[in-house]
Amino acid sequence: MDLTPQEYRCADHDLDLTELVQEQLAERTPALMGRQGKQFRVIVTCPGGPGSSSHRLSFTGTVQSR
Ligand SMILES: [Zn+2]
Repeated sequence: MDLTPQEYRCADHDLDLTELVQEQLAERTPALMGRQGKQFRVIVTCPGGPGSSSHRLSFTGTVQSR
C-alpha cells in the first residue's frame, strides 16, 4: 500500500513502525477498497526500547493506492 506519509516512526524510541501500520491496514483492506485519498487512523504497539516498555500510539495518514 502506498501511504502518505510513507514512514511512521515512534519519536520516543526512534523506531520505524511502518510495518505495523501496514499490517493494521492490511487487516482492514476490504474496508479500504476504493478509498484512495481517504484518511485513516490506526493504533499500533511500539515495542519500546531498553529500559522502557511497549506502548501504544496512533498514526494518521492517507491511502494513496493499494
Ligand atoms: Zn515507542
